[in-house]
Amino acid sequence: MYKYLLIDCDDTILDFGKSERASIAQVMEKYGVSPTVKAVEKYVKLNEKFWRLFEKGKITKERLLELRFIKFFKKYKIDVDGKAINKEYLETLTHNVFVINGIEDVLKYLKDKGYKLYIITNGVKSTQIARWNQTDLLKYFDGAFISEEIGYFKPQKEYFEYVVSNIGDSDLSNYLVIGDSISSDITGGINYNIDVAWFNPKKKKSKIKVDYEFHSLDDYYKYL
Ligand SMILES: [Mg+2]
Repeated sequence: MYKYLLIDCDDTILDFGKSERASIAQVMEKYGVSPTVKAVEKYVKLNEKFWRLFEKGKITKERLLELRFIKFFKKYKIDVDGKAINKEYLETLTHNVFVINGIEDVLKYLKDKGYKLYIITNGVKSTQIARWNQTDLLKYFDGAFISEEIGYFKPQKEYFEYVVSNIGDSDLSNYLVIGDSISSDITGGINYNIDVAWFNPKKKKSKIKVDYEFHSLDDYYKYL
């Protein structure tokens, strides 16, 4: 029944959690901290804490990006240049790309069934393109919509407006948004009146009503 699938990238197609952990481990090692599982998880937690402060408007994004490293290394009594280390980390991130296990088969299946697939992602264009180019997945997609390029981001209405007008079919019932984030993918789709499928492998709870909930990749075959 759908013609166009608008699919999120991080933690829907690519395994961002794995990328993040591999990248921070490399950065730690370089700065003299042993990248044990415990230390890596300590960073992941601290980083999450800073992102929550940012979402509440208590800190700017610029400050968050540097402060997460300054605070983290301070725990090991190491002084670092937050801006420089953030730049290094982002660079490392583009080299640590992992695809979610089994997603390529899913994309091939969807493409063979005649759906048109599009990537919808919030992020920096150069970083995202560098990451995708390390996978063999772009051949399955008919296009990609990167927030930085568009000037709007998920969940903004203008972002979805741009996507739909660019694809060129104004019948919203032909579209399905698929993503792991309630606050960006799912909320964005719902607010723009597009059906939504929540990719939720960790079975998190949410009060938001979704059209489909995918607990594993098997659900793609079941519902689409
Ligand atoms: Mg995501």
